Amino acid sequence: GEINFKEEAKFSQHLKDKAEAVSDFAKSKSLSQQRQYLPIFTVRDDLLQVVRENQVVVVVGETGSGKTTQLTQYLHEDGYTTTGVVGCTQPRRVAAMSVAKRVSEEMETDLGDKVGYAIRFEDVTGPNTIIKYMTDGVLLRETLKDADLDKYRVVVMDEAHERSLNTDVLFGILKKVVARRRDFKLIVTSATLNADKFSKFFGGVPVFHIPGRTFPVNIMFSKTPCEDYVEAAVKQAMTIHITSGLGDILIFMTGQEEIEATCYALAERMEQLISSSTKTIPKLEILPIYSQLPADLQAKIFQKAEEGARKCIVATNIAETSLTVDGIFYVIDTGYGKMKVYNPRMGMDALQVFPVSRAAADQRAGRAGRTGPGTCYRLFTESAYQNEMLPNPVPEIQRTNLGNVVLLLKSLRVENLLDFDFMDPPPQENILNSMYQLWVLGALNNVGGLTEIGWKMVEFPLDPTLAKMLLMGEQLECLDEVLTIVSMLSVPSVFFRPKDRAEESDAAREKFFVPESDHLTLLNVYLQWKSNQYRGDWCNDHFLHVKGLRKAREVRSQLLDILKTLKIPLTSCHMEWDVVRKAICSAYFHNSARLKGIGEYVNCRNGMPCHLHPSSALYGLGYTPDYVVYHELVLTTKEYMQCVTAVDPQWLAEMGPMFFSVKETDTSLLDHKKRQKEEKTAMEEEMEKLRRQQAEAARMEKEKEREKR
Ligand code: ADP
Ligand code: MG
Repeated sequence: GEINFKEEAKFSQHLKDKAEAVSDFAKSKSLSQQRQYLPIFTVRDDLLQVVRENQVVVVVGETGSGKTTQLTQYLHEDGYTTTGVVGCTQPRRVAAMSVAKRVSEEMETDLGDKVGYAIRFEDVTGPNTIIKYMTDGVLLRETLKDADLDKYRVVVMDEAHERSLNTDVLFGILKKVVARRRDFKLIVTSATLNADKFSKFFGGVPVFHIPGRTFPVNIMFSKTPCEDYVEAAVKQAMTIHITSGLGDILIFMTGQEEIEATCYALAERMEQLISSSTKTIPKLEILPIYSQLPADLQAKIFQKAEEGARKCIVATNIAETSLTVDGIFYVIDTGYGKMKVYNPRMGMDALQVFPVSRAAADQRAGRAGRTGPGTCYRLFTESAYQNEMLPNPVPEIQRTNLGNVVLLLKSLRVENLLDFDFMDPPPQENILNSMYQLWVLGALNNVGGLTEIGWKMVEFPLDPTLAKMLLMGEQLECLDEVLTIVSMLSVPSVFFRPKDRAEESDAAREKFFVPESDHLTLLNVYLQWKSNQYRGDWCNDHFLHVKGLRKAREVRSQLLDILKTLKIPLTSCHMEWDVVRKAICSAYFHNSARLKGIGEYVNCRNGMPCHLHPSSALYGLGYTPDYVVYHELVLTTKEYMQCVTAVDPQWLAEMGPMFFSVKETDTSLLDHKKRQKEEKTAMEEEMEKLRRQQAEAARMEKEKEREKR
């Protein structure tokens, strides 16, 4: 879309003073003065009063008003930490880490001492910790060990408007804790105004509003739909940088790859500009932020740009409400975001790019009006905004696989999942599907209860698939090997592939290839790193991220601790790789594919096409076995299988006969199959029963309604 840049420049010039005033503020004021400047500070005493008088309070306030960083400290100052910990949950791990760091600075304590954080596989808290930030998933797991959460005096459920899967489950669980423990307080915070739903859920508790302090944001829609939003965003950012006055830029992209591409293009464009221009071009500090970015690089977005320079932050929707950066005057919004969605056709979750909701687009625009009046450039049309975007996002619980949730609730002895107190119950189909998958993995028995394997699986902070792989490692006596594979799969990719040294790094990666398996390739990388004394320089030489490998090592040792408490011995098959592949195979029945054409696979169960990813060892070596299993499907230009292992079809038939049959008739196999078939019928009966109960409940509900009328 064409934008009148002259007007823009004038507008920005007008803002220049303001921007300078603001950045001077951050520079010159001490942390405690900055704390007092936040909107929440003006209502501190009233807020604490309401908390004193109520067991549950909903707090609503604009992003950046100080909810996340201040509430916990106010509670501490008001004495709650003398009798327990103040916990604060975050849907995103980056937010938990970054906010804990900030609060530890404000409280002048080391991170991990009085203030700490815990995310999966990383616990930075200690015996002195009184304020603990954590992901909602971590608190959810803590309820397994301590149903009443006795160690906590107050829990702040932050960012409730996000409606993450774990937050939604926590709602139901914490409602019970509130009823059981009179000394426990719960605060639910939300950035948006539709907090009445939360209030109602807890029986009509008070909603406390933090008065906002926001500036108008000038919204510019694109006149025509945009074909390449990375390119459009880069162009827009460059235009702002050249023609507009001070103020930082925030670009919303959907994920890591796009963010990297955008940053790369921006850097390139700046270089061209500098070399071709006679004038001096002000510096542009290009800063990516996404969840898998190393913590030290994440922290950079909060640092003020150097004198005369401008920051350009390129973010996922993490910057929508979870993280607030001051000094943003320009937002460039692609209008898209990545969401995990259960795809019933594929029978699995997939990260997919979707248009964001209108509420999310408005949140994004609002980021430009935090420190002064700003501008938001939307790379979509006004008609798309009005007609194609949903008013609000769909809660995660209604759109993803519930495997972990089902496992967890079952272990909390919630016998009938349809009875659980969900704010918005998930579609019954989702529950049943997830139960079916757990049954296939052997975690549920025929009447929908946890099996011995199921009980063990709950112990691991892993997806059911990976937990199953570990336990198969136990059964097939190759646990040592499988443990390493699972750990490597739990960290971001360890392969380093800089754009300007792509060929060199690809060659380095190929040296690790195990022809029949990406999983074994990961194992191979780890083992070689180990035999090189876990050295960092060795990683650099081989284009491997040392941080990723170290993280994998840490995850491995934590999983090993859990195995020890379960008294599961660490067996090894001494690199008999077929055995390991068999264990891998057993975890991925639902992700198996058979060769159809040249390099083309189809999912064994539903015939969906899927392809080897160019980064796969199998692809690299041109090896196309008849049957493979894969870790996950990613949808980019095609459906790509990520992390693939060649398997023997016999294994699939042996271990997942409800799905597969083999041509050769082997009677023992048939008997086995028949038995499994009977079991499937039993499970289906159970499903049928669940459906009937659900229908009955719905009928009763209707009747009640009718009686009321
Ligand atoms: P809310 O939760 O209401 O959105 P926050 O408590 O997150 O608000 O933010 C309050 C202020 O603290 C903001 O001005 C934000 O920029 C600042 N802040 C938060 N985290 C950090 C950090 N890691 N580094 C520097 N400033 C931060
Ligand atoms: Mg917050």
